[in-house]
Amino acid sequence: MVRHAYRSSLLCLLSLPFLLSPASLLPAQQPPPVYDIVIANGRVMDPESRLDAVRHVGIIENRIRTVSETPLQGKTTLDAAGLVVAPGFIDLHAHGQSPENYRLEALDGVTTALEMEVGTEDVDAWYAAREAKALINYGVSVGHIRARMVVMADPGPGLLPSGAGANGPATAEQIERMAQIVERGLQRGAVAVGMGPTYTPAASRWEVIEMFRLAARYGASVHVHVRGAQDTLIGFEEVIAAAAVTGAPLHIVHINSVSTSATPRTLQLVAEAQARNLDVTTEAYPYTAGMTEIQSALFGDWESRPAGWFGTLQWVATGERLTRDSFQRYRRQGGMVILHNNTEDMVSLAITSPLTMIASDGHLEGGKGHPRTSGTYARVLGRYARDQGALSLMTALRKMSYMPARRLEYRVPGMRDKGRIKVGADADIVVFDAATIVDRSTYQQPAEPSVGVRYLLVNGVPVVNDGKLDESRMAGRAVRGAVR
Ligand SMILES: [Zn+2]
Repeated sequence: MVRHAYRSSLLCLLSLPFLLSPASLLPAQQPPPVYDIVIANGRVMDPESRLDAVRHVGIIENRIRTVSETPLQGKTTLDAAGLVVAPGFIDLHAHGQSPENYRLEALDGVTTALEMEVGTEDVDAWYAAREAKALINYGVSVGHIRARMVVMADPGPGLLPSGAGANGPATAEQIERMAQIVERGLQRGAVAVGMGPTYTPAASRWEVIEMFRLAARYGASVHVHVRGAQDTLIGFEEVIAAAAVTGAPLHIVHINSVSTSATPRTLQLVAEAQARNLDVTTEAYPYTAGMTEIQSALFGDWESRPAGWFGTLQWVATGERLTRDSFQRYRRQGGMVILHNNTEDMVSLAITSPLTMIASDGHLEGGKGHPRTSGTYARVLGRYARDQGALSLMTALRKMSYMPARRLEYRVPGMRDKGRIKVGADADIVVFDAATIVDRSTYQQPAEPSVGVRYLLVNGVPVVNDGKLDESRMAGRAVRGAVR
């Protein structure tokens, strides 16, 4: 402090003679700053301001410090000439929260992967397991499904319940214990509340509303896989009503796969809820098939299904299509199954609707799973936006970055610094070639990475550099609500 004061007074004395000349009244010429990283000459696309122009982005540490029309000095300069520079994608539905999944998501343009639907019952342990070990940003909801599994003593075969957690009606005391787990999670900074009544069919309407009440108290959105294999609209009515009576923000996950042929109607319900000033949002992924656990309650009615239905199912471990016999065998064994149950027309409607965000619902293990984990974002950019012209590039980017950031920013104020390319924003940035970006993962080869992402910065660290993963620095940070 003292030394600083001495130096500034010395400077004043030294500069005194110059104060007498008119030129010295102009501000002193500062040397131009040298940025840690400059992304030069790229087509900067910011979905918030709708800026779409060639700019130079200057980054110091983990923040964007300038978005400049003139060239900048950087310790490192990434040449983005001919490439799009956009906010990194924020995946609101990423079950895969392991290094394998983070790598493939990074190559698909994702800088933040959030597990919002199933979530966890132990928020502290979930974050601790990933601290300083994640390539991209990560976060989790506290999950009613998981809380129910704890209370109903159903460990489940994987993420989801298969016994009393799914099918056991809960007493008032048991619902109270679930609420305690969910509230504890919110106090420990869970980003949202996750629910999936389709996986917990015994959860009563009251039980569902109790979870919404808690979410409302903590300003958390409720991310729901709605119930209703028989009638989709019942599941939508249930959660829209719960949001209306409690005031909790509602996010309906993968509207494509829960709606299938009812997609025009369910999109209309979301639009009408918004028109009534209800905080209701939704998301979609660009595939005609879904994936889930074969032992889950989603297949509770399998015995009454016609023979042809089994052929729409694909066993992930081997890629084979199922029969009644093989379904029965694998249901005893447990594992993941892909459901080919939607049409391209319905998926396209969901992807291009102005109401939807893009979210992957991705989950790979040992290279096995659904191609959406690796390919969701490049598929929307390459096939829907570029090849089909079904939506503009700016609209696609908005659905992938700005809209999901807005969804969470009330509960997690730090999200106001994501999903944007502007001064002060987090340096979570994707640089990609709009002419070539495309998914390559398939149902047979789900772990094939997308092509076209040239650079991916996570908190200012290039984890994809010149198209190649660089895992030398685990740049991902926790996205988390306030911790009490
Ligand atoms: Zn899911």
